Amino acid sequence: MNISWHDKEQQLAQQLVERQQQSLYRSRRVIDSAQDVVLHVNGAPVLNFCSNDYLGLANHPELISAFKKAADEYGVGSGSAHLVTGHQAVHHELEQQLAEFVNRPRVLLFSTGYMANLGVVSALLDKNDCLFEDKLNHASLIDAGLLSAAKFNRYFHNDVNNLKAKLQINTAANTKLIVSDGVFSMDGDVIALDNMMALAQQENAVLMIDDAHGLGVTGKTGRGTLEQFNATIDDVPILMATLGKAFGTFGAFIAGSDILIETLIQQARSYIYTTALPPAIACATLASLKLITTEQWRREQLQARIKQFKMGAKQLGLNLMPSDTAIQPLIIGSSELAMSISQSLEQQGILISAIRPPTVPANTARLRITFSANHTEQHINKLLSVLENVLPELQQNVC
Ligand code: PMP
Repeated sequence: MNISWHDKEQQLAQQLVERQQQSLYRSRRVIDSAQDVVLHVNGAPVLNFCSNDYLGLANHPELISAFKKAADEYGVGSGSAHLVTGHQAVHHELEQQLAEFVNRPRVLLFSTGYMANLGVVSALLDKNDCLFEDKLNHASLIDAGLLSAAKFNRYFHNDVNNLKAKLQINTAANTKLIVSDGVFSMDGDVIALDNMMALAQQENAVLMIDDAHGLGVTGKTGRGTLEQFNATIDDVPILMATLGKAFGTFGAFIAGSDILIETLIQQARSYIYTTALPPAIACATLASLKLITTEQWRREQLQARIKQFKMGAKQLGLNLMPSDTAIQPLIIGSSELAMSISQSLEQQGILISAIRPPTVPANTARLRITFSANHTEQHINKLLSVLENVLPELQQNVC
């Protein structure tokens, strides 16, 4: 029997109460200052250790000025989809410069990373194909798998043997596509890409990497996970990266061959049926790309802060995860405890959000600490001293 909207709302209200009881209720924090390492929340300054602005570019004067200038020239909205009248010369220029940066023939801009992942997987695979994803892949990749008609397999985190077994079972598949985060968003560790590349070659599978948290940050010159492993386009034919993190702006792109990009233009529904990014975003991203290419010191400074934190955390006896990236999670276990520690940190001027299931697996709620090139040595010292204050609670953690 179907139910009325009134009854449906009663059900929803009950589910909201249950979420609250399980410490899984999500609410938004209202920020009243620009994105930076110091934020104002309810009028009070807090040190921000939970955004993805790894290189400190989101509020950079050159990006702001490029954005303003472009708004004067092109207006605000793009007016329509890329395939109608939304594709401006500046979008085209950005695609070309990004392609050069990642050393691939072509790039296609998407309005968000979530949409890029949905678009590419559903455009490339049909029911005769098989998709293989790391269990800890980002939600957008998991959703891409659920949306696609391909048979969907998930392998244990970074486990090449488990993946190999799954690849070998699915012999009938037409195309076998392996998709993984480059830098895992909630854990900060990096894909075992050398082993994955060898396996993909051996099993005639195709590799796609989502380098949302790597591009701009990791690799000798900021070309991300693929640079770190010297991976070519033959090793990893499909590269996805986002612009809302290290690039400090908004949007995402897929990079690869001419045939890949032309196929996406014809078939990726999340590309075709949506409004193009505002052109001013493309101009700000061009400014950001220039800084990412020329200002190596940002990556060096970020690395120095990560090292300083890891050393200090070790002295405090904190149980860090095996990560050398800007994402340094502290596993707490219970969602309730993670929430209470996060609140206690905020009262002491440190903002670190608690990440809870289903974003992370059950019983692995965590404080996802992230760093920016704009953090100073003093900021890290302050973080460590506040963590020391909550040490008894942190030491109740499951690890
Ligand atoms: N992939 C990964 C690994 C991510 O962390 C994110 C963003 N959290 C996305 C994709 C989605 O990107 P966007 O925010 O541009 O939609």
